[in-house]
Amino acid sequence: MTFEALGLHSSILKALTEAGYTKPTPVQEQAVPAALQGRDLMVSSQTGSGKTAAFMLPALHKFAEAELEAQPGAKTSNQERQSARSRGERPRFQPAQPKMLVLTPTRELALQVTNATDKYGSNLRRVRAVSILGGMPYPKQMQLLSKNPEILVATPGRLIDHMESGKINFSQLEILVLDEADRMLDMGFIEDIEKIVEATPETRQTMLFSATLDGVVGNMAKRITRDPLVIQIASAGNKHENIQQRVHFVDDLSHKNRLLDHLLRDATLDQAVVFTATKRDADTIADRLNIAGFAAAALHGDMHQGARNRTLDALRRGQVRVLVATDVAARGIDVPGITHVVNYDLPKFPEDYVHRIGRTGRAGRNGLAISLVNHAENINIKRIERFTKQLIPVDIIEGFEPKKTASAPRSARKPGGWKPGDNRSNSKPGQRTFSKPGAPRKEGSGGFNKGSRFGDSGGNRRSFGDH
Ligand code: AMP
Repeated sequence: MTFEALGLHSSILKALTEAGYTKPTPVQEQAVPAALQGRDLMVSSQTGSGKTAAFMLPALHKFAEAELEAQPGAKTSNQERQSARSRGERPRFQPAQPKMLVLTPTRELALQVTNATDKYGSNLRRVRAVSILGGMPYPKQMQLLSKNPEILVATPGRLIDHMESGKINFSQLEILVLDEADRMLDMGFIEDIEKIVEATPETRQTMLFSATLDGVVGNMAKRITRDPLVIQIASAGNKHENIQQRVHFVDDLSHKNRLLDHLLRDATLDQAVVFTATKRDADTIADRLNIAGFAAAALHGDMHQGARNRTLDALRRGQVRVLVATDVAARGIDVPGITHVVNYDLPKFPEDYVHRIGRTGRAGRNGLAISLVNHAENINIKRIERFTKQLIPVDIIEGFEPKKTASAPRSARKPGGWKPGDNRSNSKPGQRTFSKPGAPRKEGSGGFNKGSRFGDSGGNRRSFGDH
């Protein structure tokens, strides 16, 4: 899937290329086409999933189309103010009449959304986004509102103040977004939100994003949307407790390949999926593994449907033991014999990691998910850990030790001796041992601060760069 295929305006596509985005994330793939059709959305997805672009790209597309149709002679409120001045009149404050409102729980998230909007809309001349936040000096807010921005990004409390004093009027509002709605409710904003929603036209398009769509959030979402498309993106809440996860650090490609061969010779392995970043790597690695005597096959999006189906049948029948696949091709594969998942390359988005490891441990069985990680990719593992709220233990296999040791506090532990069907491993999912091999230390020592790494829900997570 490409951004072009989503049908976005060329000026937005240009901005996305400039931002270095090559393809839509899963939430964008599902949300953008529906939003472009004007549908309401209820989306459960996490920060870091690319959700900002999922609602902002279709909105900007709409504004870009409107820009083309705009009457050249129509006066902007700024021009009206200037002509009032030239007539010697004192211009009256015209309430801002935004076309889009994004509500966020925090100032940080609001600023992030505004910055992202500036980036995605950098080639649109007339679209302006401003943040209205608690703590910002009042004159500054008035100055921003007086420019009558198309897009307002605001925290609910401060917005209510301006609404009540007549500085903002929502009669022209076309799109309403509630970002991280569950957090807004946790913070006690429900009444403010309802008041704001009430002040907007019923004809609006509403898009609600939340980590969960259960309970109170779900009820509110249903009240304020009309025939919404419900999109559920892999949730970090699924802890995959029957799947053991491990990281192996590798020094270089040859180390990685030797380790892969060794792991695939594990006597407890029934069938495995090896994930690669590119289609080409999937082919190359499958060929290499076949030469090395594994019954391997590649699966990726460049293959004809017939060839893909034959490969999947062979996997189901057990004729293929090692499937080497890309993310998109392997999505949804449900073969109970898959005992191992190997991330030969790390996925681009933490959500894809969750999809990948879910290929094993099907139907309540146990599974093992192993990530082969360059030292420089340690940061990407941390992002996955933050997303899944689980620590992934580091493993070292004798004879395959990395030359470099990973940076503190991540250090290796002895292999846990875990086998599929045996969940008595030394390290439970979600627990990390910070011990040197053979010298156990207590969890939490070594400078690791759980609160600082997992307590952050301020929306600072990023996708990984291209591999
Ligand atoms: P968000 O979930 O909206 O906070 O986005 C998380 C991060 O992913 C941000 O740093 C975005 O710039 C980045 N991002 C969003 N969409 C894409 C994409 N399609 N390709 C690459 N990076 C993206």
